[in-house]
Amino acid sequence: MSVFNHTPASRESGTEARLNKVLIANRGEIALRIVRACAEMGIQSVAMYTEADRYALHVKRADEAHSLGEDPLAGYLDPARIVSLAVQTGCDAIHPGYGFLSENAEFARLAEQAGIVFIGPASAVIERMGDKTAARDSMRAAGVPVTPGSDGNLTDVEQALALAEEVGYPVMIKATSGGGGRGIRRCDDAGELRQQYPRVISEASKAFGSADVFLEKCIVNPRHIEVQILADGQGNVIHLYERDCSIQRRNQKLIEIAPSPQLTPEQRDYVGSLAVKAAMAVGYENAGTVEFLLTGNQVYFMEMNTRVQVEHTITEEITGVDIVREQLRIAAGNALTFRQQDIRYQGFALQFRINAEDPQNDFFPSFGRISHYYAPGGPGVRVDTAIYTGYDIPPYFDSMCLKLVVWALSWDEVIARGQRALDDMRLQGVTTTAPYYQQILAHPQFRAGQFNTSFVSDNPQLLSYSNKRQPRDIALAIAAAIAGHAGL
Ligand code: ADP
Ligand code: ADP
Ligand code: MG
Repeated sequence: MSVFNHTPASRESGTEARLNKVLIANRGEIALRIVRACAEMGIQSVAMYTEADRYALHVKRADEAHSLGEDPLAGYLDPARIVSLAVQTGCDAIHPGYGFLSENAEFARLAEQAGIVFIGPASAVIERMGDKTAARDSMRAAGVPVTPGSDGNLTDVEQALALAEEVGYPVMIKATSGGGGRGIRRCDDAGELRQQYPRVISEASKAFGSADVFLEKCIVNPRHIEVQILADGQGNVIHLYERDCSIQRRNQKLIEIAPSPQLTPEQRDYVGSLAVKAAMAVGYENAGTVEFLLTGNQVYFMEMNTRVQVEHTITEEITGVDIVREQLRIAAGNALTFRQQDIRYQGFALQFRINAEDPQNDFFPSFGRISHYYAPGGPGVRVDTAIYTGYDIPPYFDSMCLKLVVWALSWDEVIARGQRALDDMRLQGVTTTAPYYQQILAHPQFRAGQFNTSFVSDNPQLLSYSNKRQPRDIALAIAAAIAGHAGL
């Protein structure tokens, strides 16, 4: 699908170091993604699961699978137990995926201490970048622009109020160890700040086990632009261009795009070089993502994610670089075989996070059995998922059940391909976000490639689509029924 034509010499000559056996400390589609990379590289894969996932695909597809007990979540969140499983099963490395313990410095440290390679940066780097205020400090010191706001964590609401007067409303109160779009509240005035402050603290304590919060100036109607980087253990850092994740609801990404249709070549080079600078400044190793907010010509560092990201797929589609493979290569001690000038990109890729949620009912989760699943296909279509017909989506984990990725040469074509692929897919038994994405793709602003992080909240009318099947679908269903009846 893409234009990548640089063949690394060391792979051909067999001088590559290779991991032998990798424990995948995750579940769902990302666990399967890692199993696939291991299989292609001749690396043994070990899955782990809790009883709620006994029939999950990552369990079936890995070379080995081990139970972590009855509780649906506890096993996936137990660093000591997972590291000892890696030791017991003779693994030389652990891949943490995203979510769960992927940005848990203690987990990485335990692995390091047990002599197991943690596939990610050093625990000290995770610690620094996982703490959003410490990350802001490092970036300021490195000369990377950050959003105006707190120097460290806030001590009380009075300090927050004083700081807000200084930077000007609106402001954001954010959980220092937050993630997944949670623990972030916008405050338009002092009254709201007083009200939201304790709410963010309580949300942060419950969701992230830390009551630390900080304040940032709210950048109004920004674009979310993030840069994928790769860094080896020898100090080489490159970027794989950017993704535009401005299509969000409540700070959570819905549709991601690579490259951004709304950057000039100069802006693209600038954010790319800022991301490389950020990674170099903290001695980063492995794959990572540097997230920025853009408004006009201003760019602000927002956070760094020290792990593989949900939307790494679209970067793979436009550059041809297999990011998970590169993670495994780097973790084995290999140098990057790509120089910055080897990285080209072609066309556009879109990723739709197909969530089991009802957009028309405030995106309420819709867990249950997948009664029928027919995968979309054809040119330029990729599906990363762990679902199958008859699979029960467990209620304990997040609601994303499939990533639909499309690639095409031009912006217009990738939109048409997205529409066609969404239409191709059949996913029955649960309500999904797919029809809502059709509404977004049809919107003139989206089609013009002009949108910011307020697009979803600015367009509530996109939620009032009809759930009735389109006439073409009905005609096809009748044709299928007749064919079935006639034994055709
Ligand atoms: P990405 O940053 O890769 O685009 P998300 O922000 O959507 O992905 O997060 C991916 C998954 O990881 C979600 O299930 C989210 O809830 C979880 N997650 C992300 N950060 C954290 C965190 N700090 N603590 C707990 N879970 C997190
Ligand atoms: P998470 O760790 O949950 O991914 P982020 O800090 O990356 O949190 O923020 C998630 C989203 O929240 C961003 O993509 C953006 O839309 C919004 N956001 C965060 N900080 C700001 C800010 N200072 N101004 C405007 N929007 C912001
Ligand atoms: Mg983020």
